[in-house]
Amino acid sequence: MAGFSFEVTARDGRARAGRLVTPHGEIETPAFMPVGTAGAVKGVLHRDLREIGARVLLANTYHLMLRPGDAVIASLGGLHGFTGWDGPFLTDSGGYQVFSLAALRRIDDEGVRFRSHVDGSPHLLTPERSIEIQARLGADIVMAFDECPPGDAARGPIEEATRRTSLWARRCRNAHRRADQWLFGIVQGGTHLDLRERSARELMELDFPGYAVGGLSVGEPREGRDLVLDRLDPLLPAGRPRYLMGVGTPEDLLDSVARGIDLFDCVLPTRNARNGQLFTRTGRLSLRNARYRDDPRPPDPECSCPTCRTTSRAYLRHLHMSGELTAATLATVHNLFLYLDIMGKVRQSIRLCRFEEYRRETLRRLAAVDEDGPACDAP
Ligand SMILES: [Zn+2]
Repeated sequence: MAGFSFEVTARDGRARAGRLVTPHGEIETPAFMPVGTAGAVKGVLHRDLREIGARVLLANTYHLMLRPGDAVIASLGGLHGFTGWDGPFLTDSGGYQVFSLAALRRIDDEGVRFRSHVDGSPHLLTPERSIEIQARLGADIVMAFDECPPGDAARGPIEEATRRTSLWARRCRNAHRRADQWLFGIVQGGTHLDLRERSARELMELDFPGYAVGGLSVGEPREGRDLVLDRLDPLLPAGRPRYLMGVGTPEDLLDSVARGIDLFDCVLPTRNARNGQLFTRTGRLSLRNARYRDDPRPPDPECSCPTCRTTSRAYLRHLHMSGELTAATLATVHNLFLYLDIMGKVRQSIRLCRFEEYRRETLRRLAAVDEDGPACDAP
């Protein structure tokens, strides 16, 4: 398809480094995509995102279709024209948010009926409608409309959602028109390995250019996720990108790269930053903790991000406790920088065939204890 390619350029064990080319630029993989729910990463300017190395943003179809509406965005040049972000965008299908945010939903094979969490207005989202909205939004990568059951669902509902996801994936494939968008399929099946395998095989019949693994950020045990990724790794086409949706902590990213994943998104670094929780190379740090009141050190002494170069823990804690808007901005810039920096080092270590060494050492340090006691404050 015009303007798109993906190539695995290095392997180390099952970890892969690669290059994903889109009409709006290249993405070195493994890559982390900051979440820009409403067309913006909360609290951070595009300029700062570029400076800290963000290459691709995720935007949420559900939020944008309700406000300001996909017609408005289309009339202003799609997401790129509307937001001014000229790099690649990925939009989700709207499915995940419909299932987690909207009220009064009714699901059948046609689609999902729901009421907007913004104004209560009724909507019907179908596979065809999701693809139409995503075509208007104009992201480079768009996602098939899937049913994402809750993590504690019984096997019956998960099996039903997996069946429906395959049905809907075919309808998405048929509705997809834009040659300048890549449509990825989403594998469902909870932590049931046989359902995951069935889902992957049914989607692969539709020959998507990339495959996402959905339904693994919904509270399932971590071992369950690892087993699913272990099962899918040899099944999914080796030459196509794999995207693990909604996961996770830096530890989760390292463990999933080790299982052959190329793309990630997660609200953790941005949401936690707004709540005053920083990720550091030696564990987590909560700005609410009184022991940082007069701490002159930067949030993460090993970090070279714009926040850590100019800001003390004491000042950042003060801004956070005072409800200053810049607290969210400074903390988010740091957390995203850390995620993007780790992914850069992951890519480098794969190219040097030292990924396992890097992963072990980074995991050990993330769990470290410093001289003040545990660096990791409970979330
Ligand atoms: Zn920093």
